[in-house]
Amino acid sequence: MKYKLTRKQKKTLKRILVAFALLVVVAIITHVFEIEGILKLILFLIPYIIVGYDVLRTAFINIIHGQVFDEKFLMTVATLGAVLTGEYPEATAVMLFYQVGELFQSIAVGKSRKSIAKLMDIRPDYAVVVRDGEEKTVSPEEVLVGETIVIKPGEKIPLDGNILEGSTSVNTAALTGESVPVDMACGDKVISGSLNLTGVIKVQTTNSFGQSTVSKILELVENASEKKAKVEGFITRFARWYTPAVVISALALAILPPLFTGISDWDTWVLWIKRALVFLVVSCPCALVVSVPLSFFGGIGGASKEGILIKGANSLEALSKIDTVVLDKTGTLTKGTFVVDDIHPNCITSDELLDIAAAAESYSSHPVAESIINAHKGHIERSRIGEVEEIAGKGVKAEVDGKTYYVGNGALMDMVGAEWHDCHLTGTIIHVACEGTYLGHIIINDEIKSDAASAIKDLRSLGIKKTVMLTGDKEKVAAKIAKETFVDEYHAELLPSEKVDQLELLLDGKSKVAFVGDGINDAPVLTRADVGIAMGAMGSDAAIESADVVLMDDKPSKIAKAVRISRKTMNIVWQNIIFSLGVKGIILILGALGIANMWIAVFGDVGVLVIAILNSMRAMFRMKE
Ligand code: ADP
Ligand code: MG
Repeated sequence: MKYKLTRKQKKTLKRILVAFALLVVVAIITHVFEIEGILKLILFLIPYIIVGYDVLRTAFINIIHGQVFDEKFLMTVATLGAVLTGEYPEATAVMLFYQVGELFQSIAVGKSRKSIAKLMDIRPDYAVVVRDGEEKTVSPEEVLVGETIVIKPGEKIPLDGNILEGSTSVNTAALTGESVPVDMACGDKVISGSLNLTGVIKVQTTNSFGQSTVSKILELVENASEKKAKVEGFITRFARWYTPAVVISALALAILPPLFTGISDWDTWVLWIKRALVFLVVSCPCALVVSVPLSFFGGIGGASKEGILIKGANSLEALSKIDTVVLDKTGTLTKGTFVVDDIHPNCITSDELLDIAAAAESYSSHPVAESIINAHKGHIERSRIGEVEEIAGKGVKAEVDGKTYYVGNGALMDMVGAEWHDCHLTGTIIHVACEGTYLGHIIINDEIKSDAASAIKDLRSLGIKKTVMLTGDKEKVAAKIAKETFVDEYHAELLPSEKVDQLELLLDGKSKVAFVGDGINDAPVLTRADVGIAMGAMGSDAAIESADVVLMDDKPSKIAKAVRISRKTMNIVWQNIIFSLGVKGIILILGALGIANMWIAVFGDVGVLVIAILNSMRAMFRMKE
């Protein structure tokens, strides 16, 4: 990844280089010509001021505003102290390295910002809408639901919708991390934020811009850095008492020993003040304060490149701890695109049965409904449909041509007292009844996603103790899918509320449970789990909102990848915490004992910062399989 320095960064770099060159020159001149006293001080002050004037200025401004104990304050006191005790080169060097660290940090933050900004590239700037037969370019916010928009090759798809006319291939890489383009034709659903590659398409919008996938994702990413992980809160609290504690210890170190050993001996004072200054230089907690959020930022950014959206550092932290994964069947382990296999009518024709079912389902977004509508093909006059009610986990109740129909599973038939019978065919059976009269059933089948079985295997190899499948579908279908995907356990014929109950049983206080679903009927479970993972592309808006993690390409294999990224990131976070505190602790002790001098303190401080930042950047890089 290339990164261009900003103007401010370039200026800082220039100052660092100039000050460094001057420091070397001054050191040589004062040494060769044996310059001492005030002249030596003035010569050394030149590079010191060049490299450190902004730090000094900010520190004084902060002191006036009553803000002491920040890192600029520490640097100012430490370097001015060094000047007073005659350590001129050291004073300049401390400032110099402090600035190197700051520059490094600003580059690192800029770099990860940029990777997030790349994701922001999905934001469409305009939409071409057809109004009164004319094409008008408007901002995406102005397009209404149900309007027709035109998208040419090379343009971003501005709003979610269905293709009315034309065919094309679409690149969803920015959303899903999947770089292979997908072919789309009339009737297919396109997602905003993807790129139209080859053909001109006319799309009827199904969401306003605010409700479109692209807005949801942008909102997610923009808010991600605000949600702090527990460990970040810990670092902030830690820094709050750590810095004052070190300053007080430094003061004590400067004052107490001379009081006892030689109050009138100037050399003793200088000795202990020097040791106290070492203390101050080391005390700067910047490595922690910078590297920990940067690691999370990197982990979230790295995951987004894989089409995995993690909503915040808190979600990433929780994800790294899960040991049980509960999965929904339809849309999660299976494609959720059912195909009608057969129609078994009762006293009416197959076409009539399908027509009634499709009409009743025409307002539902459930995968079952979509399959029936697709099988129907013909146009359904909206005026035929009256009141519609979805009965979650069971089906729909709808008024069609003035009569009340029920379309759904056996439980729904029992509810209305229709005399139904099961089917000898394997599949999801959708029964239809008019009032209490049974009209027959439609057999639909769903395919298991190609990576479902390997996804479960992957999770097991990551040490996930238990995988459980929950479904509202029939026992027979559930058993078949469970066997083919190798999940440890399954529960079938569950209503949405019973899915929550099953999850509660697994949330026994010890286990950390992730629930993976498409959000159609399972948003409550997503919210209740320790980590809610939603299938984003096909999933419902409710899912994207209630989930902690969104898998943009709906691939279950991304669950294991997300866990791996989160664990890697948490490892990096802890490495940085332990490493920086460890090194600082050692230098503090050596400093107090008089073994570590200012030079070691400077190298220790900046070295730790640079290493911690480099380590954080690792979180961002794509993981190899
Ligand atoms: P899953 O747990 O497999 O995602 P749901 O809880 O969404 O399934 O639905 C459970 C069952 O309820 C489905 O298998 C289907 O039989 C029935 N059902 C749900 N919604 C509908 C609908 N709109 N039309 C017909 N049947 C439905
Ligand atoms: Mg479902």
